[in-house]
Amino acid sequence: MAATIKLIERKSVHQIQSGQVIGDGLISVVKELVENSLDAHATSIEVRFKNCGLDAVEVVDNGSGIAPDNYESIALKHWTSKLTTYDDLDTVTTFGFRGEALSSLCALSDLHVITATASEAPKGTRLEFETSGKLKSRSVVAAQRGTTVVVENIFKTLPVRRKELERNVKREYTKVLGVLQAYAGVCVGVKFSVFNQPVKGRRTPVFATKGNPTTRENVANVFGAKTLVALVALDLQFEMKSTRRGGREMGSKEIKILGHISRPVVGEGRQAPDRQMFFVNGRPCILPQIARAFNEVYKTFNVTQSPFIFADLQMDTNAYDVNVSPDKRSILLHDQTELLESLKTSLITMFTNHEQTVPHAQL
Ligand code: ADP
Ligand code: MG
Repeated sequence: MAATIKLIERKSVHQIQSGQVIGDGLISVVKELVENSLDAHATSIEVRFKNCGLDAVEVVDNGSGIAPDNYESIALKHWTSKLTTYDDLDTVTTFGFRGEALSSLCALSDLHVITATASEAPKGTRLEFETSGKLKSRSVVAAQRGTTVVVENIFKTLPVRRKELERNVKREYTKVLGVLQAYAGVCVGVKFSVFNQPVKGRRTPVFATKGNPTTRENVANVFGAKTLVALVALDLQFEMKSTRRGGREMGSKEIKILGHISRPVVGEGRQAPDRQMFFVNGRPCILPQIARAFNEVYKTFNVTQSPFIFADLQMDTNAYDVNVSPDKRSILLHDQTELLESLKTSLITMFTNHEQTVPHAQL
């Protein structure tokens, strides 16, 4: 017998969609909260895990805080202070723009917020939300300027996802730390501190940066100062031939790739950790093709080690599209083929002239 087609309850739809926004589990939770802090111009961001995130994830920032007028709307779906029309997407420079993160986290977990703007501190407000994202309660508390978002019992409304997280929490936690290392590395002038508190025992620091002015110092803070000995500066620059991207005129055809990469010479000094991080205009991204190009070229110079790569692709915002995946980690580069060719050529030149490259650091 044919099944009857029925409309799914609105609450279930919200939960299903929220599960997609938070598709990468713990990674998505942490990424969304940290990006909100960065969008609020925080210069200090503390990420506190309880039981590797299974019990709670808290992100404490010293950013702008949330104005009382916005309390009712911040956790409602598609309410954002960052974007109003589709055209704005082309020039979006904030990390968030869909107004889905807090709404999704309300649907999937217990969420509360403590926030204070500069004029309100040292008084702040604690906000609690219903599963639907509707403001449930507000109370006055003591708070510094900034915002703290606490997410407890993540995926409590999606039992299958919860079980999966419980099973894989160690692996997910390790991946989350990788993502946090990328943000801590690329965000200059922002102090990152990461802590974890095991079920039994005290809160312990995982890593921290000091609000450095350069990514080089951030890399040293995150991966250890000795890592720098094994690295050289990545500083590539090329012009793209075509001036139109995605049907629009580009502001600039120039692409820069800045960062740090392992020295290609075998057996020379210390080996850098086998970590690879890619960014587009400072936004951590997954760029498999770019990664492959780097690794392919590197392999022709060093067959025994895979490189440490920290590469920020700096280009016109018209040259790519961030609106490809719900979590914005995948990016569509409009002229990837040309970019890959130029990248490979300039990497080969750089490594060939390695003798002349200045070592990144001498201890
Ligand atoms: P989006 O980031 O796409 O706007 P979110 O659901 O992540 O959507 O956040 C909704 C809104 O809540 C943001 O637009 C912002 O106004 C406010 N907000 C969230 N987190 C913070 C924070 N840490 N500091 C200041 N404002 C915040
Ligand atoms: Mg956001």
